[in-house]
Amino acid sequence: MKPLIAANWKCNPTSQKEAKTLFEGIKKRVKNIKNAEVVICPPFVYLSILKGLTLGAQNCYFEEKGAFTGEISALILKNMGIDYVIIGHSERRKYFKETNEEINKKIKRAISAGLKVIFCVGETSQERDEGNKTNIIKNQLKEGLEGISKAETKNITIAYEPIWAIGTGNNCSVDETMTSILFIKQTLNNLYNRAVADKTRVIYGGSVKGENSNSYIKEAGASGLLVGGASLKTEEFVKIVKSSI
Ligand code: PEP
Repeated sequence: MKPLIAANWKCNPTSQKEAKTLFEGIKKRVKNIKNAEVVICPPFVYLSILKGLTLGAQNCYFEEKGAFTGEISALILKNMGIDYVIIGHSERRKYFKETNEEINKKIKRAISAGLKVIFCVGETSQERDEGNKTNIIKNQLKEGLEGISKAETKNITIAYEPIWAIGTGNNCSVDETMTSILFIKQTLNNLYNRAVADKTRVIYGGSVKGENSNSYIKEAGASGLLVGGASLKTEEFVKIVKSSI
């Protein structure tokens, strides 16, 4: 399977003009790359003005439609031609108090709308220091995937994103990433079966840069990368994409 390299622009950039410039710069340099799947996840409002690369949203609501002021549903995204949605990002969990239960509802709704899901899991530094990392990840997976069938898992990519590594410059070591990916695969094996564990892509995110990206794919066994800060720099992001193939 091709590596999935997803750009999470978060709440950036702050104008349509900058969003288009960034997108077009990336597009020009990656559009002929066939061995990696590149997905750009900009703020919602830019989704309709960016054309020519696969797009993802950074969130969606868990109801299909109705009186939910300010929310964007999975169905709205699908009907706009969007392919992917990031669900359960640690910033959503932290700042918007998203629970595993809400994340589970969002994943279900996204899959039933026909979106592909990038489901984020990962531990805080405190949880890691206290030796709770695997319990936290196991619980995030168990509760987040509750009621999702084996067949539906083909629409899910798991992003292992240790929270202490996000936006800090303190990227996770190759060894620790490999151990975490194997743990996620083992948990999928326990929740489903070996085939699901083997086929589900597990990608890494957390301070990925052009200089460290290659090792996650080639050494840690990640099936791709979720890139935040570095995805806002055209050349850096392109370097990451190229290093993955
Ligand atoms: C992220 O927000 O998903 C992320 C990985 O951010 P950064 O690359 O900036 O650490």
